[in-house]
This record gives sequence, C-alpha cells and structure tokens, in this order.
Amino acid sequence: MNQYDRVYNFSAGPSMLPVPVLERCRDEMLNYNGTGMSVMEMSHRSKPFIAISKRAETLLREVMEIPENYKVLFMQGGASLQFAALPINLRCNGAADYVRSGNFSTIASKEAAKFIKVNIAGSSEATAFDHTPLQEELTLDPQADYVHICMNNTIYGTKFPYIPKTGKVPLVADISSCILSEPIDVSRFGVLYAGVQKNLAPAGMAIVIIRDDLLHEPAAETPLMLNYKLMADKDSMYNTPNCWSIYVTMLVLEYLQSIGGVDEMARRNKKKADLLYGFLDESAFYIAGARPDCRSMMNVIFRTDSPDLDAKFVAGAAERGLLTLKGHRVLGGMRASIYNNMPYEGVELLVDYMRAFEKENG
Ligand SMILES: *Cc1c(COP(=O)(O)O)cnc(C)c1O
Repeated sequence: MNQYDRVYNFSAGPSMLPVPVLERCRDEMLNYNGTGMSVMEMSHRSKPFIAISKRAETLLREVMEIPENYKVLFMQGGASLQFAALPINLRCNGAADYVRSGNFSTIASKEAAKFIKVNIAGSSEATAFDHTPLQEELTLDPQADYVHICMNNTIYGTKFPYIPKTGKVPLVADISSCILSEPIDVSRFGVLYAGVQKNLAPAGMAIVIIRDDLLHEPAAETPLMLNYKLMADKDSMYNTPNCWSIYVTMLVLEYLQSIGGVDEMARRNKKKADLLYGFLDESAFYIAGARPDCRSMMNVIFRTDSPDLDAKFVAGAAERGLLTLKGHRVLGGMRASIYNNMPYEGVELLVDYMRAFEKENG
C-alpha cells in the first residue's frame, strides 16, 4: 500500500477504499473494458453501463443474501434524502415509530415528522446516547406504518447489538455506517438503506433494499425522484443515475467477494475492533465513549481527560500518517472510524501511537 505514500484515514466518511479497487479505477479510467471511454463518459442506457449496474446489484444480492422478494434501489441524494423518502413512501395509517439513538436517527425522526406523525418509541438521549435502547425500553405502536432505527450510530460509536422485534410492523434501518461489515438477516427488515460513502463507494448515492409488498404508489405530490415504486419499476434509471458510484460499488463488491465475502470481512472487522477496544479497556489514560454492550465495530469513540491533550493527540497522530482522528464536534475527543477498508495495520499503528502518547503524557 505504501508504494503510493498513502495515509491511514480514520475519517467517518467519505473513507478509505481498497487499493486494488483504486488501481482498477485508474487502469480503466481512459478506456473501460474496450469501450474507448471511461465509465464517467458513458451513457447510462448503453449496454456496458447497464451490465455494470446489473452486476453491482447481483453482487450485492449475493454478498448480503438478499431474498428474492426484496428490490434493490440505487438512489441519489445520500442517506439524508431517504429520511424524507421513507415516510412519503411507507405512509398508510399516518404514524411511525422512531427510536432515537444518536444524531442521524434524531435528524431522521425530525425530517419524517414533516410527512407523518412521529412517535419517539425509545431514546437514549438522557444518557448522552451512550447506548442503543434495549427492547424493553421501546414503546411500540402496533398500528405504526413502520419502526425506524439507526443500526450503527456513527457519531456516538454505538450499535444495536440485537434486531428489535416489531411484530407485524415493518422494521426500517439506516445501515449507512455498517453495511457489509458483518452478516445481517435482511428478512428481518422491511427496508434497509445506506449512504455508500462509508463502506462502499464515493458519496452521492444511497442503496435502498425494500421488501416488495411495501412498494405502492405514493401520494400524487411525491417528487418523481423520491418515488420508490417508480425507481423500482425503472431499475433505478428513471433519470441519469450516479454512474460512477454504481461502478465503484461493483468494484468494491467484487473485491469483497474475492476476499471471502461478508463473513471474512466481519472476522477482520472484529479483529480490528478487539485490538482497539482491548487496548482502551486496559488503559487508565484513555476513556472509551460507548457502553460496552453496544459498542460499534466501525466507529470507536475515546478521549483523554483533557481537551488540550486530545488536540495534541490528534496533531501528533497526523504527523504519523494517522489522519482524521478528531472526534465529532458535538462530542469532542477522538473518533477512529475503522470501516471495512481500513487495514489491520492502520489500527496496529494507531494503538502503537496511543501507547507511546500515554507513556509520554500519562
Ligand atoms: C453518514 C450517515 C448518514 C448521512 O449520510 P449522507 O449520505 O451524507 O446523507 C446517515 N446516517 C448514518 C448512520 C450515517 O453514518
């Protein structure tokens, strides 16, 4: 990897992509597969591009074991646009349950409230979002059109360690910061959605995986670009899709499959997270942010007892090629996002640095 002088980028997103994928983008940039042009220049109605889009979907279905009765949509506008698309498309009785477990789930619930009656079915706000609410902490409405959760809380470094039971009410989950990081039983959900820029591809696209019985014609005033049924009927090509992002999604999924799929990725992710949390648990100098039973495998939150030391830590890390470790502005401290494409060595170097910094400053 260091033939290119690359750094270890711990950014919460956009984040690292596998070097073999970047190399392939480079190699195919001027002439994709004998077409004489790059994917960026290609008609989305052309045969080669339709093949790319189909292959991206097929690979996603394979690696996530998506059942036949689910549609896969590639939609523009990132995960945030889905915060509006969900209530607009899933509205029937007119009320939805939202679980607030952090920043994005709160934004999602506020956005949904513009279109549907929102009940806050559970919240960990009182304890500064240090955990995800347990099943017993949820108050679910059996008449709700859906229940919304955020599976992995990117800013607070927590994840749902379980899949909430919602009876007949469809469960909808934002999996932007954990898609493909470990196996997930798609059949337990009505809708899964994710912005692609954490574990998959360049920003600007969301993947929506939706059970087909939930697709129905939304209200007449629904914008075309937010209409799930239309997008499903048109294979996500009602208009010009995010061709580049779809192409890189295909490459990253090919790469993921080549290393052994989601099972192998989960093993690697666990190994990285265990190394970092193991070190944090032993240290009396660093304080880990999330409650141990709901720790995220993707976003690791920690700090020292002094904001000045935190700033010194982040600056010193950057000098060693360990970048973007500053915590989110609402939390301060540090955040190491160790997504799928962060190599194990990156986490090893981070822990080495943490140990040295503790010795010097502890
Ligand atoms: C990053 C992120 C978002 C926002 O994604 P955009 O594609 O930038 O809109 C939403 N939810 C979660 C959990 C995220 O991590």
